[in-house]
Amino acid sequence: MSERVIPLIDQRMRTLVAALPTQPIQANGLLADGLGRPLRDLRISVTDRCNFRCSYCMPKEVFDKDHPYLPHSALLSFEEITRVARSFVAHGVQKIRLTGGEPLLRKHIEVLIAQLAELRTPDGLPLDLTLTTNGSLLRKKARALKDAGLHRVTVSLDGLDDAVFRRMNDVDFPVAEVLDGLQAARDVGLGAPVNGGPSGLKINMVVKRGTNDHEILPMARHFRGSGMVLRFIEYMDVGATNGWRMDEVMPSAEVVRHIHAEMPLVQLEPSAPGETAERWGYVGANGQHDPALGEIGVISSVTQAFCGDCNRARLSTEGKLFMCLFATEGHDLRSLIRGTPAPDGSLHAPATEAELASAIGRIWQGRTDRYSQLRASLPPDATVGTGKRIEMSYIGG
Ligand code: SAM
Ligand code: SF4
Ligand code: SF4
Repeated sequence: MSERVIPLIDQRMRTLVAALPTQPIQANGLLADGLGRPLRDLRISVTDRCNFRCSYCMPKEVFDKDHPYLPHSALLSFEEITRVARSFVAHGVQKIRLTGGEPLLRKHIEVLIAQLAELRTPDGLPLDLTLTTNGSLLRKKARALKDAGLHRVTVSLDGLDDAVFRRMNDVDFPVAEVLDGLQAARDVGLGAPVNGGPSGLKINMVVKRGTNDHEILPMARHFRGSGMVLRFIEYMDVGATNGWRMDEVMPSAEVVRHIHAEMPLVQLEPSAPGETAERWGYVGANGQHDPALGEIGVISSVTQAFCGDCNRARLSTEGKLFMCLFATEGHDLRSLIRGTPAPDGSLHAPATEAELASAIGRIWQGRTDRYSQLRASLPPDATVGTGKRIEMSYIGG
């Protein structure tokens, strides 16, 4: 595979004014973006801070003590987050994922979860409410999260070997504590299986060739038959600080081949439209998928773009709305809901519910982002777009 270096682009990320359209846009769940994609999934970043320094996300050299993290006054309050989320749900969002930074570092996160758990879709159904965490605080927080109404969690875990794991998180955090946090999540019933299906507890492993690819098989063996779904994520060129190189990406097809050689797999149907993970089930003695052995997922963000089905919006900790993981500009919803001056100096009264829904509707209607598709169609040394890309630790996965 030829080496490909994405150059660092040093320009300030643009903030766009979230304008109020002249014609109101009703929140009726029928919203489609500029490429006909519905809005179903909202990811909310609740902090830009983290206690890990995974080199693919928050390299120590950049995210040091002088890094300008957001001040507390810049963060959306829990009430503001819930207000924005309510508007998204009225527009058709069915799933909310809390992320970060490390979401469990946000004080009293369970209070936010309790507020979000009260929201209902226009059909009166509860949301699929989940959270992605590095697992370091799960032992401490699992019970409170479950009691607040969280359904399930995804735990990021890049290897089982303690030395490899400590190197990956780069703060010398022991793997045993994450595994213990995972056990705590199971013990309180987070992600408990519904109707004999797989557990809602998922494990995310980012595979970086040459760093932790030798952990693929030990991870697969460990989680096979556990009821938990292990998902392998291709190392992505997100942000502008991780020094991403194509030769460090291990394509999902290679991961599947590797596991299949020892533990045979068959491909399974996607669980939902817009699902990012391709599903592969372990084969039992009868040559068919054996649900007791479970399944793995592969997320091929680099080698197989899934922009065509992308139904996700992302809300940053400070209330900027991003239409794509690789966006270089965000829409300022905080000024709109607080009625404070917008980046262009304009001042509005705090937006009403109808105005907020209209503004969100207009932003989604204008969305044409499809970064991964464009990247796949370009020569290896080309870049897509200009401007400074958002960091994963700022916007979440
Ligand atoms: N701190 C939490 C965690 O690690 O689970 C939540 C935030 S983290 C940014 C969300 C997910 O993004 C994690 O599963 C992480 O492994 C993944 N991630 C971060 N940087 C990545 C990259 N460059 N490529 C692929 N996945 C990445
Ligand atoms: Fe922190 Fe998660 Fe990023 Fe690792 S991937 S540095 S745990 S935010
Ligand atoms: Fe969605 Fe952007 Fe990822 Fe494509 S590149 S799948 S549009 S987030």
